[in-house]
Amino acid sequence: MIIHLKSTINQEQAANLAATNKAFHITSEGVNVLITSSSLKELPSELVPVTDEYWVFENDMQLASRKYKSSTRKVSIGKNVIGGNTNNLLLIGGPCSVESEDQIRSSAELLSSLNLSVLRGGCYKPRTSPYSFQGLGFEGLMLLSKMRDEFGHSIITEVRDATHVAEVIEHSDVVQIGAKAMYDQGILRACAKINKPVLLKRGFGTTLQEFVQAAEFILSGGNEQVILCERGIRTFETKTRFTLDLCGVAYLQEYTSLPVILDPSHAIGFAYGVTPLAKACAAMGVDGLIIETHPNPKVAKSDASQQLTHDGFKALKLEVEKVANAIGYNVI
Ligand code: PEP
Ligand code: MN
Repeated sequence: MIIHLKSTINQEQAANLAATNKAFHITSEGVNVLITSSSLKELPSELVPVTDEYWVFENDMQLASRKYKSSTRKVSIGKNVIGGNTNNLLLIGGPCSVESEDQIRSSAELLSSLNLSVLRGGCYKPRTSPYSFQGLGFEGLMLLSKMRDEFGHSIITEVRDATHVAEVIEHSDVVQIGAKAMYDQGILRACAKINKPVLLKRGFGTTLQEFVQAAEFILSGGNEQVILCERGIRTFETKTRFTLDLCGVAYLQEYTSLPVILDPSHAIGFAYGVTPLAKACAAMGVDGLIIETHPNPKVAKSDASQQLTHDGFKALKLEVEKVANAIGYNVI
């Protein structure tokens, strides 16, 4: 249950009410909000006199639900705004991993030349093998910060585990929680306490309910800037790396109020399919796309097969723009 307390109730009183009712307490747009388990179906009698409005839910998808907030939540990333009624499709680009200063500068230049301003690049890579390139770590974060200073781009980079969550939070503009880290309670709880957008990727074996509940950990801790990212789930199919769950996207758009960004690069795993999939996503009115692109994909230290060349990325932007514009969206 979500309960909006009356404006006569102050912070301290709200905190006490939360404690006695085993509820979370957040302040949202100046309102004291209590959130209990969805198993609570009737407003406790002692809360009746102090409650302005309340919502009852079938399951623990509560703060994220459209039943609670009917329009898509707005999230700002630097000068870019998605959600609300903006009809903006945010195109994020950059390499899988930050590999060197020259490489990441080349990606930053590519974005500037296309009037785009959100740069991705992993520094702490959640690799499937311990023998693969693990990322540049802090050195990579410093290179991304340098690109922010030089180009004015917003930086999105992923946190792999709780050992470096503080570093990533400090040096990024959007914290990416990867598919493998999505269940990490330490990361989710740390991201709940920050005032920065969080891009939460869906685990490849994660149900939609579990995915949205992971977002609830961040929302109920007080950070309302959560963006969901579908990046492919594991099915019986082996010809493609994963299967992009567009049915799941339709579900998230229908039942949640969180902006949804799509990652076709990791879903298919091969460059040839990234642009066609990106167009399909754009046709669904998604809030953004996150695309891997590398100055020379053949020598990329991670995810080489799926990264677009810079020319390929430019072509993707043109193609996606046609589809987005056809449904009244702008690529930003
Ligand atoms: C990535 O974005 O490079 C990445 C590792 O993605 P995912 O967590 O979706 O596998
Ligand atoms: Mn990658």
